[in-house]
Amino acid sequence: MMNLILLGPPGAGKGTQAKLLEAKFGLKQLSTGDMLRAERDAGTPLGKKVDAIINSGALVTDDIMIDLISNRIDQPDCSKGVIFDGFPRTVNQAIALDKLLAAKGRSLSAVIELQVDENELVNRMKTRVADMIAAGNTPRADDNEQTLRKRLQIFRNETAPILPYYQNKGMLQSVDGMMSMDDVESEITAIVSKPGAGPVSQPGGKLPVNGHS
Ligand code: AMP
Repeated sequence: MMNLILLGPPGAGKGTQAKLLEAKFGLKQLSTGDMLRAERDAGTPLGKKVDAIINSGALVTDDIMIDLISNRIDQPDCSKGVIFDGFPRTVNQAIALDKLLAAKGRSLSAVIELQVDENELVNRMKTRVADMIAAGNTPRADDNEQTLRKRLQIFRNETAPILPYYQNKGMLQSVDGMMSMDDVESEITAIVSKPGAGPVSQPGGKLPVNGHS
C-alpha cells in the first residue's frame, strides 16, 4: 500500500498530479479542499461552518480536518493507498496524521513537495479565472489576487514548517513545479516507483525551502 503526501502552495499543481497518480497507481486522491467544498455545496452542518473560512482563504481548524481525514481514510476506496492533497497544512496536522496512520496500521511512503514561485502562482490563478469566465463558469471565491496572497502567506507561516518536519524524518522529496506538467509527472512517478518508496532520500529540488517569497 502506498500513502503519499503532495505538499506545496495553492496552485502548485497538487490536484493535477494527484489525479494523474490516482489513475496510474490505483490510489485515492484525498483533496481536503474538495471535501470541504462538497460539504459546503451539500449544505451540511460542517459545510455551513466552514463556508466563510474557505472563502476568506483562512485555515479550517486542525480538529475538524483531522476528523475528516481520519473518517475518510477508512472507506474501502482508500484500501490500496491514498494521495493526500492539501493535507496536512500545519505541523499539528502532520503530527496527528502520523499518529492516525500508525493507529490504522498504515505509514507514509513519500512526501513530495512541488516548488513553484509566487509570481507564477498568481499568473496561473489569473489564467484559471479567465478560462473559467470564458467557459461561462463562476470562479471560486478564493481565486482572486488578494485572497491568493493571503493563502500564500498562510502557506509560508503555517504549512512550510511541515517541510523540515518531514525532511528530518528523511522523507521529503522536492520536485521543481515550474517544469511542464509532463515533466513534473515523470519526476513524481520516478520517486514513487522506487522499490519500497520511503523513507526516501533527501530533497533534490532547485529552489530553497523558503523560496516562495
Ligand atoms: P484547497 O482546495 O486545498 O486550496 O483548499 C481550499 C480551502 O479549504 C483552504 O484555503 C482552507 O480554507 C480549506 N482547507 C483545505 N484543506 C485544509 C487543511 N488541511 N487545513 C485547513 N484548512 C484546509
